[in-house]
Amino acid sequence: MQTSPGFEASHRQRFPATVSGNGFRQPVQSLDTRAVAILGHMFLVGTQRINDAGHLEIGGCDAVTLARHFETPLYVFDEAGIRERCRTYRAAFESRYPHVTIAYAGKAFLTPAMARLIDEEGFDLDVASGGELHVARVADFPARRLVFHGNNKSARELNEALDTGVGRIVLDNDLEIVTLDAAAQARRHCQEVWIRVAPGVDPHTHRRIRTGQNDTKFGFNITSGAALEAVVNVLGRQGLLFTGLHAHVGSNLKDMEAHLAALDAVLDLSLAIREETGLSVEELNLGGGLGIRYLPSDEVPAVDEFAARLTSALLDGLASRHLPVPHLHLEPGRSIVGEAGTTLYTVGATKSVPIPEAPGHRTFVAIDGGMSDNPRPQLYDAVYSAMIANRPAAPATGTYRVAGKHCETDTLIDDVALANPQAGDILAVQSTGAYNHSMASTYNRLPRPAVVFVREGTARLVGRRETYQDLVRLDIGIDDEAGAPVNLPS
Ligand code: PLP
Repeated sequence: MQTSPGFEASHRQRFPATVSGNGFRQPVQSLDTRAVAILGHMFLVGTQRINDAGHLEIGGCDAVTLARHFETPLYVFDEAGIRERCRTYRAAFESRYPHVTIAYAGKAFLTPAMARLIDEEGFDLDVASGGELHVARVADFPARRLVFHGNNKSARELNEALDTGVGRIVLDNDLEIVTLDAAAQARRHCQEVWIRVAPGVDPHTHRRIRTGQNDTKFGFNITSGAALEAVVNVLGRQGLLFTGLHAHVGSNLKDMEAHLAALDAVLDLSLAIREETGLSVEELNLGGGLGIRYLPSDEVPAVDEFAARLTSALLDGLASRHLPVPHLHLEPGRSIVGEAGTTLYTVGATKSVPIPEAPGHRTFVAIDGGMSDNPRPQLYDAVYSAMIANRPAAPATGTYRVAGKHCETDTLIDDVALANPQAGDILAVQSTGAYNHSMASTYNRLPRPAVVFVREGTARLVGRRETYQDLVRLDIGIDDEAGAPVNLPS
């Protein structure tokens, strides 16, 4: 389903544009040039501004108007911010390395509209399940530019990937090698594959998003010799064409040490492959993993620095091992969409409770969402920054605990400085573009939020809000024939 200009026009709405002159306005800059305006207790990123009404504005749209029009919770994506980030990645790598392809890791946030945007920016797309593959197909994403991932792809998913004509399938285990080979041969097809390797490096990130260490479920171990064996295994099969290696060490990495160590291990493996088989590795995918800023104080390498260090280490490593220059592939997710996403909530009840520590009380600020639209604080102890969107420049009156509305202690933000939050205020939580919408649930049967793309004063609905009707769409009613008891074959 290609988004036609007509479709776009009819779904776009104009919102009061920005303008400023209040001293806060920043020139439009690349996110990557760290275009962050820090205003005391909070920061502005990408196209975020404070407009003449004194409201937060994103992509030229007033956040309060967006909240009123589309209701809350609402995922707002700064389209220019995403595009800018894509262009920064491409420029940084393409100017330093002769053959580069960058894929967007769809697991971070994927809808048909996002897939179209990614295609327009000349990125490939990484999908990690039959469902993500389906979204790519709905968006008419060119199949040849799809990379199919997953540590336990089912036979059905592998067949779907073959039917779609996916460019590369990343093999993760022996079962997949056998299953895909048989399925490809049955179609008289030879499928290009990469071998996912575990380079044996331990990135410094939350334990649930570490993937490159030896003790991992992902890929074939380099250290144990399993990776080399897998390559030899693939080479003996008619249905599979080995073209490259893939390593992804972990997510939200704040330095590059793990990437550089993984690169070294992968180049050693490339050398071992050449010595063992005489073959050169044609394609090398170094995954994603670059971290983003969740708090004003977060420091992460700029994409440009990331590209400079990675490509120079790669070229040096190839030269010292006398290896030919492979096509370099990358697969960022979080660092493409993370900072471009803002979630808007409406503040409801506030409550002050006594605590033993200073100042002797804590004020809870409850919002109309929580762990169903953003499970990251629960999963990874993730931290966020926020502001009151209807008066972002007002001085903070204290620190507050932002609580979700679920039947758990679903703290969204432990401690955040805010300007006197009151019922009806709009709370904007920053850097929620990655792994929020894609990890959302309907816990407590909360309908999932709508998604809008904002750009130059217009807002485009790309995901409608779930309704109560949607919530029971798959449930079988008592009188429904589909729910009649069946006798299972013995
Ligand atoms: N590639 C693979 C195989 C992944 O598992 C992931 C995420 O975990 C990514 C790319 C994207 O990582 P990030 O969003 O940290 O850039």
